[in-house]
Amino acid sequence: MSTKPFNAFEMAQAQFDRVADILDLDQGTRDLLRNPMREFQFLIPVRMDDGKVRVFRGFRVQHSDARGPSKGGIRFHPHETIDTVRALSMWMTWKCAVADIPLGGGKGGVICDPHHLSQREQEQICRGWVRQVARDVGHVRDVPAPDVMTSGQHMLWMLDEFEAIHGGHYPGFITGKPVGLGGSLGRTEATGYGVVFTVREALRELGIEPKSTTASVQGFGNVAQYAIELYHQMGGKVTCVSCWDQADQTSYTFRKKDGVDLGALMSITDRFGGIDKKKATDLGYEVLPGDAWIEQEVDILMPNAIENQITGENVERIHKRVKLIAEGANGPTTPEADAVIQKRGIFVVPDFLANAGGVTCSYFEQVQCNMNYFWEKDEVLGKLDVKMTSAYHAVSELARKQKLYMRDAAYVVSVSRVAQACRERGWV
Ligand code: NAD
Repeated sequence: MSTKPFNAFEMAQAQFDRVADILDLDQGTRDLLRNPMREFQFLIPVRMDDGKVRVFRGFRVQHSDARGPSKGGIRFHPHETIDTVRALSMWMTWKCAVADIPLGGGKGGVICDPHHLSQREQEQICRGWVRQVARDVGHVRDVPAPDVMTSGQHMLWMLDEFEAIHGGHYPGFITGKPVGLGGSLGRTEATGYGVVFTVREALRELGIEPKSTTASVQGFGNVAQYAIELYHQMGGKVTCVSCWDQADQTSYTFRKKDGVDLGALMSITDRFGGIDKKKATDLGYEVLPGDAWIEQEVDILMPNAIENQITGENVERIHKRVKLIAEGANGPTTPEADAVIQKRGIFVVPDFLANAGGVTCSYFEQVQCNMNYFWEKDEVLGKLDVKMTSAYHAVSELARKQKLYMRDAAYVVSVSRVAQACRERGWV
C-alpha cells in the first residue's frame, strides 16, 4: 500500500480553505488567494570548478502582492520542490499581513546542496538566479532574503548582479545583508525579541506578572538565545533549554531549576546552537532526554527549535501548570496536538505571529536602504516592539470578540486583510 507523500502546498491550501469558510469568502477571492499569483521556474547553467557545465533548477513564486511587493527568502536545498516554494510563499503572505507590514508573500529556491559546492560555484548560482528574474524582482516588486542554507554573502552576490544589470544602487532589492553593507542593526535580536514582546502582552492579558513566571525553551540557536535574553530582562526565569547534539545525533535537555545562566551556556555552545554536554554537567546542569523540555512544571513553553515537535505522541505530557505556548519556530505543533492544546485551554501565540519579528525587521532594513539612512539599534528595536505589540493585540482582540482559537484568529486577521486589499484594488 502506498501512502501519499506530505505536500506542504496542499496543507497550505487546506488551511486557507478553512479560513475562507470562516470568513465566507466569495469564489473569486478564494480562487485568487489559494494559488500563487505568479511563478517563475528556470534553469541556471554553471561552469563548475572541474570545467564541466552543470544545470541547476531555480524557482521564484510570488503568491500575492496585493498589499505590497512580495517578500520572502531563497532556499538552497537538494530536496526543494515547486510545491514547497508555493506553500512557503503563501505563508509569507499571511505572516506579512498579520504583522501589518506593507508587503506581500514570495519565496524562492534552487535545487542544490551548498555542502558540495565551492564558494565560486555558489556565487555563480546566485548570479544566475538573479539573471533569470532580474526584471521581475526589486524593491517595488519582490524582495528576497536569506533562508535555509543561504546567507548574507549570498545576498551580496545577488545584489551585486542585480545592480550590474540595472545600472545603479538598489540595496532595497534584497534583505539579510551584513550590517555596514545595507543590513539593519537589531536583525539578529529581532525574531527572539519579537517572540517575547508577544509573551509580555499575552501575560498582561492573562493577568500574570512576568517576574512570577518560569519557562522551558526548546532550541538554543538565534531565536531561543535572544528570546531568553529579553525574557530574563523582564524578570522571568528559564529553567530548561533543549538542543540538538551533532556528535550523538540526538537532542538533550539541560535543566537548572533555579534558572539557567544565559551567558555561561552561550560560552559552551557551538555556532549551530549545540551545547557541550560535559561542560554543562561541570556547570551543574542536569542533562535529561531531548524531549524532557515539554514536561517541565513551568508557566510558559517556547518551542524555538524546528517544526513538528509538539505532536499527538507527546502533547499529553505538557504539565498542567503551563498556561502559555509561544511558538518561535515555524510549525512546531502538529494539527493533532493543536486540537488537544485548544481543548485544554492553553493560550497559544501561533508561529506566524510570534516569530514575525524577523520579517518585520527585514522590512525595516528595506525601508532604511530605500532612504539610504540607517537607524540606531534602539530605534529599530523600539519600532519592532510597536509593530509586534499591535500585531498581537489585533489578533487577541478578534480571538476574544469572536471566541476564536488564537491560531484561527491570526489566520482570519491576515486573510481578511489580503482579501480586503484585493477587493479595494478592484481585483475581485
Ligand atoms: P538555529 O539554527 O540558530 O537554532 C536552532 C536550534 O534548534 C539549535 O539550538 C539546535 O540545536 C536546536 N534543535 C534542532 N533540532 C532540534 C531537536 N530535534 N530538538 C531540540 N533542539 C533542536 O535556528 P533559528 O534561527 O534559531 O531558528 C529556529 C526556528 O525559528 C526555525 O523553525 C526557524 O524557521 C524559525 N524562525 C527563525 C527566524 C530567524 O530570524 N532566525 C525567523 C522566523 C522563524
